[in-house]
Amino acid sequence: MKLLKKLMTLVLIAGLLAAQGAVAEQSPVAGTYTGVGNGRNGEVSVNVTVDDAGTITDVSIGENQETPAIARYAFEALPTQIVEHQTLQLDAVSGATLSSFAVKNAVKDALEQAGLDPQNYQMPIEYEAHEETIDADIVIVGAGGSGLSAAIEAAQAGASVTVVEANVYPGGATMYSGGMVLYAATEQEAEEYGSLTAQQLQEGMKQYAGEAYNDELAMDYLTHTKENVDWLKALYGKDDLVDSHDPGYVPLHQGDEAVEHTLAITIHPDGGESNGLVNHWVVDALYENAVRAGVSFIFEATADDLLTDDDGTVCGIHATGRKGDSYTIQAGKVILACGGFGGNYEMLKAHSDMERPIYLGPTSNRGWGIEAGESVGAKTAYATLPDIEGYNSMVYGTVGGLIVNQEARVLDANDNPIENLFAVGELTCVQALDLVHFSAGENISWNLYSGRIAGQVSAAELKDM
Ligand SMILES: Cc1cc2nc3c(=O)[nH]c(=O)nc-3n(C[C@H](O)[C@H](O)[C@H](O)COP(=O)(O)OP(=O)(O)OC[C@H]3O[C@@H](n4cnc5c(N)ncnc54)[C@H](O)[C@@H]3O)c2cc1C
Repeated sequence: MKLLKKLMTLVLIAGLLAAQGAVAEQSPVAGTYTGVGNGRNGEVSVNVTVDDAGTITDVSIGENQETPAIARYAFEALPTQIVEHQTLQLDAVSGATLSSFAVKNAVKDALEQAGLDPQNYQMPIEYEAHEETIDADIVIVGAGGSGLSAAIEAAQAGASVTVVEANVYPGGATMYSGGMVLYAATEQEAEEYGSLTAQQLQEGMKQYAGEAYNDELAMDYLTHTKENVDWLKALYGKDDLVDSHDPGYVPLHQGDEAVEHTLAITIHPDGGESNGLVNHWVVDALYENAVRAGVSFIFEATADDLLTDDDGTVCGIHATGRKGDSYTIQAGKVILACGGFGGNYEMLKAHSDMERPIYLGPTSNRGWGIEAGESVGAKTAYATLPDIEGYNSMVYGTVGGLIVNQEARVLDANDNPIENLFAVGELTCVQALDLVHFSAGENISWNLYSGRIAGQVSAAELKDM
């Protein structure tokens, strides 16, 4: 009987402890503890404050070597969630997975130092998915460089704009980009840096595009490169930007021979080249200006259906949030800006000569926009990515997808614009020239680049590493 009583008491205590959830089994010593977890670039220190009931009252990120532009999303989200929900059972922030693990492991370490059992902080967060219908003049799929540029222009022109982005943060491949911009130098710059002027680049484009060459489009871009770069600089609004006219790229071939020229510039905040994300300033500038212009964003929602009305006319999109939320966005115009298809291995393989292509951009770029366009009769065209020696099968961008005209209207099999449907950026193929444009319409920052030129530039860059 005594034994039974003892057993029952033990069961009761265990039950009480389990019911208390986050409360410690041992008596915690209230205070602040610094735990350590391994991130992408090394150890991440996290300061965790607990009270004498075992409640986590504060989490703050300490010393670390993580790439700020990426890790910041994990560093902002996780500490708040841990304090709010008293749990470590949290999803990693997509794109910052290793930094997320580092934070969670560091908090575990700190809890143990406080005499607490991390197992007591593993309660899953309950979430009820919701359905939402949103009306907007324009819905844009993708918050990369092209989607953000289009959003700013549209919002500044007075439209109500909603942007749907699969990732937790804006930027897409644009954030990872080396930031090299095909740039037509002034006569003075050409002399100083050996760069090419608009006329010289025009010759190069003719060589590359062959029969597809479109002089109007090429010169439209080339004569506006400085203006476009200045547009971005003005959005950034600070004067610490440096232009690098890096010599030694190999953009043009004369016969079989590669001729070295400087054809691009990279622009970066002074000293910013070393943080590994040269182009982050572009994303920051675009995103901040889009928010300021009144653009609404839905992050962590993936567009999965292009909506059409009874006549088959495009009238919006459907997107599903990471936790199952359902968004129906009814809009007068849909702009597809969801990047290339590098994150879709099957497509990548089908449009490259490489044995095993490896895409260096976001996995969310799965070519959904192409699928969506095709569902309403859009025509597509692709260039095959060459297997360049020294390139190591690394893919910095894909070439092709939806054919659009210069107003970014998606064209059907008869070259007629599909009503209400637009596409910009890497997802597109501008008719008659092997160039991709970053944004669209009048007065928008054009940032065309040739996939073939980019491929060869990258190859040259990698060989030098
Ligand atoms: C490592 C690297 C280096 C590069 N260097 C250069 C360079 O030096 N110069 C240069 O000109 N180009 C460079 N590029 C290519 C250039 O970055 C891209 O071509 C350009 O950024 C594409 O812009 P975008 O806006 O079209 O697409 P992205 O910037 O990729 O944006 C697309 C966005 O759409 C989102 N998305 C995709 N599908 C969906 C969906 N179904 N629902 C919701 N959201 C979705 C993605 O998450 C992404 O954020 C580089 C690319 C990489 C990866």
